[in-house]
This record gives sequence, structure tokens and C-alpha cells, in this order.
Amino acid sequence: MKTRTRFAPSPTGYMHIGNLRTALYEYLIAKSTGGDFILRIEDTDQKRFVEGATDIIFQTLKRVGMNWDEGPDIGGDFGPYIQSERRAIYAEYAHKLVELGGAHYCFCAHKDEEDENGDEPQTHAKLKDPCKLIPLEEAKRRIAAGEPFVVRQNINKKGTSVFHDVVYGDIEIDYDELDEGVLLKSDGLPTYNFANVIDDHLMQISHVVRGNEYISSTPKYNLIYEAFGWTPPIYVHVPQVMKDAQHKLSKRNGDASFQDLVAKGYLPEAILNYIALLGWNPGSEQEIFSLQELEKCFSTERLNKSPAIFDINKLTWMNGCYIRNLSADEFDALAQPYYKNITTSINTKALSAALQPRIETLNQIAEQIDFLQQVPDYDMELYTNKKMKTTPEIAHLALQLVLPTLQKVTDWSNDNLFNVLKEVAISNELKNGQILYPVRIALSGKETTPGGATELAVILGKDESIKRIQTALQKLNG
Ligand code: GLU
Repeated sequence: MKTRTRFAPSPTGYMHIGNLRTALYEYLIAKSTGGDFILRIEDTDQKRFVEGATDIIFQTLKRVGMNWDEGPDIGGDFGPYIQSERRAIYAEYAHKLVELGGAHYCFCAHKDEEDENGDEPQTHAKLKDPCKLIPLEEAKRRIAAGEPFVVRQNINKKGTSVFHDVVYGDIEIDYDELDEGVLLKSDGLPTYNFANVIDDHLMQISHVVRGNEYISSTPKYNLIYEAFGWTPPIYVHVPQVMKDAQHKLSKRNGDASFQDLVAKGYLPEAILNYIALLGWNPGSEQEIFSLQELEKCFSTERLNKSPAIFDINKLTWMNGCYIRNLSADEFDALAQPYYKNITTSINTKALSAALQPRIETLNQIAEQIDFLQQVPDYDMELYTNKKMKTTPEIAHLALQLVLPTLQKVTDWSNDNLFNVLKEVAISNELKNGQILYPVRIALSGKETTPGGATELAVILGKDESIKRIQTALQKLNG
């Protein structure tokens, strides 16, 4: 049987990292076995409708290169792929399930399925629904007469349910622990607990990957499969993505979604690579994987059940690797938006070349280049540097020596400038640092810069560099 997996997000308006990881594992299970990856939008909770949220799902998956074989936008043989468009299908199967004895009509809780606390109304607590006793013919008459109703699951079994999960092994849950929850709501829409079963079956899904919070409800889904005489899919429950040992990675922390991370200067490819390893290991020391490489080596046996802790430092390190692996042009293109507020004429190619090896997230560009617009107001003590053997006096001398030399330079390249300044040092019996360090401070007003003195000079261009050295000399005179 062909592997068919599905990513079934609810349109919440952002892509939680845990959801993206689920999508990735679904995608990899399909692609590593020549199967199909299906996108299904689970929008039956109309109260939570967010405008534009489906587009965010599409864009995120496309941005990381996870293309789907069937989905709302491209169709497929098993559509529609948006749950709110499958209303008639759920109604048909809900009524069938009642006929088969897997569910019953309930009239007393239509006001609704949950109270304010999200709990089921007391009358329906486990197996005690009085509506279960209403004869089917009578229930049908009441429905035909227009009485609002819900379809509620029957849990008639006793004892223990056992099912297998690829990650967690055999799982046992007592039937007593399951509630007879609503499957079809009074508005005619299904709950997740019903829709997931119907859709996964009708869409011929072979593997279901989802968060381990769904484990406890899985016996209920299995009862529905059983009532219809269907085979359940292979279950792959994955541990939650945690911020630390106690807390889930939550939207409130501001770094829980793909969108948050991209806004902070992380590359989509690096994010994807990092989350692949949050709960899966390749069985080797290799850490950097492209999506294509993951497709080749992924296997569900290497998924693990220990909680996956999201380590932003590790992601930052990995992002740095990805930044360094970009071609110069690719990096320059990504860096351009960060340069747009600089009005002085600068050599952005040289700037990008200086930045690329030095940053780990794109957002670090901003703090590296703040001096380009203007030299910050700095203290003369900045010229004192033990390692470079400089003081404000030496800096004064160095800049006086450097200025006329630089004014004469025509080949304003890093190599040439470096040779010229080295020459100034040698002929004046100074150390290289005693020339280069003061020039760097004069050009930037900062101790840490994206590159050394001559790189900065190339970035700023000749006119601006000369101007800054003249200003520094004035300061040192004063
Ligand atoms: N819509 C569900 C969610 O976003 C999907 C769970 C599943 O994959 O079955 O949590």
C-alpha cells in the first residue's frame, strides 16, 4: 500500500514550531518511501477562524520546500481538503455510525458541547448520558421535527484498550477513562474527534503523526474505526516541543512560531534542519541536513519519546553555519533589506563580504552596521588598547601619518590598503596594530566592527574614510 501522510493544521494565523515539525515528519515519512504528502485544513472550529490563516500555512510550507501532492489549492482525488467544505460527508457518516451502534443522538446538550470551562456538561459525564436510552426511532422523529441535536459517541466496551504507537510502543488505556464526547455538533460540523477519523480513512492515510496530547483519545478513534469496520492508520505520536523541562514552547514567549524566528533573522532552511533533530536523530554525528538529505535518511525508528527541548542557542549556531554556507550573492540579497536605511554611499558588496563570516542571525546585521550612518560619539579612551599598544597619543601620531598617504591612494582595495598601511607602520617603526587599530576606531567609533581597518575603509569608500579620519584628528587635537 502506498504511504500517504497528511498534515492537518488548524488555521490559527501562525505556524507553531511543533506543528511545523509534525508536518516535516509527515512529509519525510511520505517522501522517504515514495509516498504522497497531503495537506488538509482543519477549520471546523469556526469560533477560532482567523482571516488569511490558510495562506500562512501555504506560504510556510512552500518557504521550507515541503510541497504537497494534494491539498486545498491543487485538489486531488480525495477532496475537498478543507474540513468546512466536507460538512455533508461528516453528517452522512455520523448518521451511519448511529445506525451501527457506535454513537447516539443527544438532545439535551445541544446548547452546547462544552461549558465555560471547556468541560462536558455533568449529565454527560462518562457513559451516563440519559439520551442513550431514547429509542432510535423516537430520536429520528424528534430530529425530523426539527429539534436540535448532537451526535455523541457510545463507549460501550469495558476493560482495557491496547494499541500500538511507533514512538511509544504498546499503549493501554482503560475504556472507563474515555468520555462519550460529541462527534457532530448542533451546527452540523464535526468535532476533531470525529473528523480526523473520517478524513484519515476516506483520504486513505497510512500514517498519522501528531502530538502526544492525542494519545489519550486514540482509543476513542479506534472504536470509531472498529464500528465502521475500517483499519486504523499507523500511529506516530511525537513528544511536545518544550521551552524547558516544565514549560511548553508557547506563542506567548514570542519565539514559538516559524514566523517569529524568521522575523528574528533565522533562515527557513536552518529552522527546518534544527526542528528535524528535535525528536529524531540520524544515528550519526551529522547535524547539517538539507531537506533532500533528510528525505534520504529519515526513518521512524529513530524518533524518540523524550521531551524535545527547543534550544535557541543551538538553532543560532546552526543558523550561523547556514549563513556561512550561502554564496556571496545569496547572502548579499538577504542582507540588502538591512541596508536600506543607510544614506551614506557605501560599498554594500564589501559590507556583505565582511558580515557573512561574522554573524549568526540576519538581525545581528543591524547592530554590526549602526556606525555606517554616522560615527557614534565615542570617548578618546577608546584609542587606548594594551594589546595593540595604542594610546590616544599614538593614535594621534598614527592618523597624522596615515591621512596624507591615504589621500594619495587610487587603488582603494582591501589588499592594497593593507599593504599601504603596513608600509606606514614599517617606515615609522610602529607595530601594524598601532596604525590599524586607530584607523579602525576613527572609521567606526567602535571596538567591535565587521572587519578590520582596511575592510571598513573599503566599505565606507575613500571620501567618507578620509572625512572620518580628519574628524578623528580634530577630536584628538581637542
Ligand atoms: N488540527 C489538529 C491540530 O492542529 C491536527 C492534529 C492531527 O494531526 O490529527 O492539532
